[in-house]
Amino acid sequence: MTVIAPQPGILEISPYQGGKSGVAGVSNVVKLSSNENPFGPSPAAQEAVRRVLHEMHRYPPTDHAALRDAIGEVLDLDPARIVCGVGSDEILHLLCQAYCGPGDEVIHTEHGFAIYRIGALAAGATPVEVPEAERVTDVDAILSACTERTRLVFIANPNNPTGTMIGTAEIERLAAGLPERAMLVLDGAYAEFVEGYDGGAALVEARDNVVMTRTFSKLYGLGGMRVGWGYAPAHVIDVLNRIRGPFNLSGPALAAAEASIRDTEFVERCRAENTRLRTWLAEALMAHGVPSDTSCANFILARFHDPEEAAACDSFLQSEGIIVRGVGGYKLPAALRITVGDEASCRRVAHAIGRFKAGER
Ligand SMILES: *Cc1c(COP(=O)(O)O)cnc(C)c1O
Repeated sequence: MTVIAPQPGILEISPYQGGKSGVAGVSNVVKLSSNENPFGPSPAAQEAVRRVLHEMHRYPPTDHAALRDAIGEVLDLDPARIVCGVGSDEILHLLCQAYCGPGDEVIHTEHGFAIYRIGALAAGATPVEVPEAERVTDVDAILSACTERTRLVFIANPNNPTGTMIGTAEIERLAAGLPERAMLVLDGAYAEFVEGYDGGAALVEARDNVVMTRTFSKLYGLGGMRVGWGYAPAHVIDVLNRIRGPFNLSGPALAAAEASIRDTEFVERCRAENTRLRTWLAEALMAHGVPSDTSCANFILARFHDPEEAAACDSFLQSEGIIVRGVGGYKLPAALRITVGDEASCRRVAHAIGRFKAGER
């Protein structure tokens, strides 16, 4: 028997389960399980990567200055308050590593993203799950769960896998009501899908206890490149820069992200298509007797009668070559999360669910 063991908490972590990407024996598969951009990456991002390929032997820059400047310019933010990471997942992990440890509490919501719990446990802290109000973040419930041991409060707005969001006034009330030593982390992975929403950037600038995280993995179509960023008060940026890997982002990843954020025309087109097709898909599913909450993101949480029906529909869709996401691990066993694909994929999944509900299985 080995006496070698990891830090307490690590073995309580269930490894993250990614969305499936294939079905054995089925071809022409459509993957609607990981909220990827159905239109792929911007052509400008692909071209930018090609341009830097001959520099693969060089270490990348450590300060990410060109990317931070581009983000600052396009979104009208202060580049000095930006920190870039290997996906926003890295930023979430760094926040846990830096701000919580044994004896501390980290709050996440009932159907919150798996990484919040994983990051807290990895840092030796105690995750605290707070109920949502019918799949919507409940500010009062979070505030009453806070203690003097609370260090971080994670909420995704819009939330995954529910697709719901809360308004700016509610977010402000949450930030203002936190205990002195607690920090609010606004995960804005889907903020870009909401027209005119800053993801909480103004609140970051106004307070010293709010951090926003963003990603290039969803609307920008760069999930495979692993680029995300955080927007935070200067004292937090300083801390995160001390612990992150100096060369955490590769040259191609930096080039792709910079070109993506500057290709505002492509981004606009993807956002508009998502909005149009999301409404279409929600209405088509409703017409087949499958309701969903109004989604603010690039997926729909389709609700079935019970876990058995959701599982049966999941299997039926797989046999048809359509991969969606079961969300039993997010305490939503009677639901399936369906990414809004391109028009053909939306029609295909709606049609298949219609046949399933009509009794064909
Ligand atoms: C996809 C997602 C992320 C971002 O992941 P990356 O590491 O940036 O690819 C963060 N939070 C939520 C809620 C997500 O769904």
